[in-house]
Amino acid sequence: MKLLVTGGSGFIGSNFIRYMLEKHENLSVLNVDKLTYAALGDNLKDVKIRYPGRYSFFHGDISDDSKMYMVFGKEDFDYVVNFAAESHVDNSILDPSNFIDSNIKGIVNLLENLNDSNSRFLQVSTDEVYGSIGKDGKSWTEDNPLDPRSPYSISKGAADFFVRYYKDNYNIDAIITRCCNNYGPFQHPEKLIPRFITNLIDNKKVPLMGEGENIREWIHVLDHCTALEKVLLNGEPEIYNIGTGIEKTNREITDILLNHFGFGEDMIERIDHRKAHDFRYSVDFNKIKELGWKPLINFNSGIESTIEWYKNNEEWWRPLKESSEK
Ligand code: NAD
Repeated sequence: MKLLVTGGSGFIGSNFIRYMLEKHENLSVLNVDKLTYAALGDNLKDVKIRYPGRYSFFHGDISDDSKMYMVFGKEDFDYVVNFAAESHVDNSILDPSNFIDSNIKGIVNLLENLNDSNSRFLQVSTDEVYGSIGKDGKSWTEDNPLDPRSPYSISKGAADFFVRYYKDNYNIDAIITRCCNNYGPFQHPEKLIPRFITNLIDNKKVPLMGEGENIREWIHVLDHCTALEKVLLNGEPEIYNIGTGIEKTNREITDILLNHFGFGEDMIERIDHRKAHDFRYSVDFNKIKELGWKPLINFNSGIESTIEWYKNNEEWWRPLKESSEK
């Protein structure tokens, strides 16, 4: 079984590659990654040694025609999973251009190359494409219209429409997944949970937008990986939401982390809401449950093991944190 992973050196992609190599002995993986700032933690340094002959890396940008032509010209892949994207909403507000290049132009380029292949393609999208819902609003199903509000989610939504266009008109076997917020090992310290954990390890305050009233649905990255495996191997060429039903305000997340470290309210630094700060995301994930998938990692134990991981892997996150704070 040959798997091409694009953007596999980032947070979710690296967890997925490790999970798939461990689980499927007959699987080999080619990872194509541009190695942006988000991938500089060398998240896969153990993998080549642990799985000799089954993992290889190609340095390339998915929006680069000639590089992708080389990748697809080399061999046939049974599966192609795309994680490659600019993924930090704050950056997309400061400058959307990289998001247009990687998240839209890149996906079109991938789809063009998939046109003559027999590969099954999976686009890793996000719940953020649905927009924002009120506190008591009904969780989104896969049929909900898209209403993205930030340059990040607009670019991911545009990619979803391109996937649909190529699937419908060029007979590509394509799946889209829309997952809620991930947490777990190897997440860049620019993102909320690792940023707060690493600040607290350093006895620094945590920056909370407004009163922390915004609500997100949370999944441990390993549960996301099992969901991707499930739809890739057993799903239809359709859209699948991936969720857990675990919804927390940012203030609740903050309190869990402060309590763990034995800190109080005085360690919160209140900051203004960013532009396009959606109030709540929540997905209905009954469709993927019908395939026999369910999340297995309880939030409290998942967050505890994540805190322990960051405590034990300072040499991984400290250089990333220092360069992102410059
Ligand atoms: P990440 O920023 O940690 O990793 C992204 C990876 O893509 C990096 O290795 C980066 O170098 C690579 N990349 C970026 N542009 C590229 C390009 N043009 N060509 C090749 N490689 C490129 O992001 P992540 O959190 O692991 O997210 C992975 C995917 O999952 C993204 O598509 C994101 O939209 C989606 N997603 C993330 C979450 C979440 O909570 N993190 C939730 C739902 C969906």
